[in-house]
Amino acid sequence: MGNKVSQFYRIEKNCIRCGFCLDICSWDALDAPGKGRTFTIEEDLCPGCGICVDCCPVGAIRRVGASGDDDAAGR
Ligand code: SF4
Ligand code: SF4
Repeated sequence: MGNKVSQFYRIEKNCIRCGFCLDICSWDALDAPGKGRTFTIEEDLCPGCGICVDCCPVGAIRRVGASGDDDAAGR
């Protein structure tokens, strides 16, 4: 709680909690909250490498600020 999410990527609600992104992230930036809740990416830990994007089977990891999806771009 209280951790800011990554300014580079965010995880959408269609995340099926498979955990592939957790396994692949070398920075341990992914956070797996309680059951039924979407995974999150922590701002302090994620350098925005983008590796997790390709491992997601449902395309739930999206670049913040990508076209048509800029509502979480922040600053
Ligand atoms: S973009 Fe890179 S550092 Fe950030 S959560 Fe994905 S794999 Fe980890
Ligand atoms: S790889 Fe995609 S579907 Fe699997 S836990 Fe990560 S964000 Fe969710």
